[in-house]
Amino acid sequence: MNKALNSDQDTPLRLGGHEVPPVLELNAAGNSPFLLTCDHYGRLIPEMLGDLGLPESERTRHIAWDIGIAGVAEQMATALGAHLVAQRYSRLVIDCNRPPEAVSAIPLISEATTVPGNDGLSHEAKARRRELFFDPYHRRIDDVIDARRARGQATVLVSLHSFTPVYAGIARPWHIGTLYQHDRQLPPLLLQGLRAEAGLVVGDNEPYAVSDATDYTIPVHGEKRGLMNTGIEIRQDLITDVSGQTEWAERLVRVFAEIEVTLKAQGLIP
Ligand SMILES: [Zn+2]
Repeated sequence: MNKALNSDQDTPLRLGGHEVPPVLELNAAGNSPFLLTCDHYGRLIPEMLGDLGLPESERTRHIAWDIGIAGVAEQMATALGAHLVAQRYSRLVIDCNRPPEAVSAIPLISEATTVPGNDGLSHEAKARRRELFFDPYHRRIDDVIDARRARGQATVLVSLHSFTPVYAGIARPWHIGTLYQHDRQLPPLLLQGLRAEAGLVVGDNEPYAVSDATDYTIPVHGEKRGLMNTGIEIRQDLITDVSGQTEWAERLVRVFAEIEVTLKAQGLIP
């Protein structure tokens, strides 16, 4: 870790020419009304930040990213013909689903782990992380929604996440949860569809609810723009390997295909 980068006088953070950009997209021309986002898709750390002072065991666990969701998101995008916009860098660098001014956006402590590379950051160092990772991702989602509007394509925002089965010592019983704040159209349909699947423990705003203070993608891109929206959280132990990711992607594709039919029948999308 290069701690010197934390102070204003040092070289500003940048990505090397061989490092991938933060935004990953699949199916940009997809016709589906569902726009998939994945804030915690990846766990890359820019080379200039080294390992953030963390061992690999910390950089690969849930505090760094949403384990398993990348495979689910990609398979869903492909099967639904849906546009996926995802962010490749670790949420330990900057959390793309937190208001950037929130203290937890660049966490000094995540669960019980202290992140040395996030200690004592200058205002400039924090702003630079936002410019490099947070802003391009959210600007892209904004632009995608604008472009869909301009061509008359409906947008139903689906924000994909995964959650750790045990957090701070507490086991979580749900297999999957829907997450929302103000939308009263899409989350009930999703809950109904998931509860019709055999043997699932489905969380209604569990293990979290969405709020303006703790979330960004749904409040800003979904609610402020008047889009139907929901978050989805899948328990990580169910999607650790490819077969689990496929099983869950297929299940969600089935459920969302039915939701699309319902939304059309209700005249909520063309
Ligand atoms: Zn997440």
